[in-house]
Amino acid sequence: MNIRLKFKQIVATGLQTFAQQYCLLCAAHNGSELGLCNACATSLPWHGAPQCPQCGLHSDGLVCGHCLSSPPDFDATHSLFTYDFPVDSMLQHYKYRDMLHLSNTFATLFSQKLATKNNANKIDLIIPMPMHSARLKERGFNQALEIARIIAKNSQIKCDFTTCQRTKLTPPQASLPLKERIKNIRGVFSCMQKLQGLNIAIVDDVMTTGASLNELAKTLKQAGASHVECWVIARTLPHK
Ligand SMILES: [Zn+2]
Ligand SMILES: [Zn+2]
Repeated sequence: MNIRLKFKQIVATGLQTFAQQYCLLCAAHNGSELGLCNACATSLPWHGAPQCPQCGLHSDGLVCGHCLSSPPDFDATHSLFTYDFPVDSMLQHYKYRDMLHLSNTFATLFSQKLATKNNANKIDLIIPMPMHSARLKERGFNQALEIARIIAKNSQIKCDFTTCQRTKLTPPQASLPLKERIKNIRGVFSCMQKLQGLNIAIVDDVMTTGASLNELAKTLKQAGASHVECWVIARTLPHK
């Protein structure tokens, strides 16, 4: 672990202790160990509406027309929130402003949601969305990995962040128009070993078009995975 990350983790532990006493959204003095008071936790944009089980977009609860006509390479999507206020802002703070302790809040809430689901496909392996080594050096941590680690520990599933790597450095997806994202992400991942017959969950912070998750799911299936799910903190939904 590099010194910068170690320092960040020390700060994060301090902030977490603080967060345990005060709600990070309203500063009320009754925050739980998640750093949120009950009222603020309840008012978060939970993704509870009927949705397509495959891509997580609005539907009547059945696989949507888009997934039926051009099926993605992943088989299911579980998202905790919709990418709306204040979760959008919390995720931005987590990712770019060193609020590392939020990984615990997001991962714990995700684990709680997962525990209520009757997941027919038992997951063998959790793989966090890989970050290119140059990007990792720049940011100091992989936001997906920090969340995946905690979810894996809570659910007692192995977390594997070495088998699959991001070998090509491309512009960040968020900086590109939606249409260019598929082209930008093509062929960027590589898998070092066979994953024959495994059920895998990919953990990521945000799913927007799903282009990165789809490309990684494709890579995992090519390596032999039989089932791939997306476990994301927030799903961007088109606003009506
Ligand atoms: Zn609050
Ligand atoms: Zn769908």
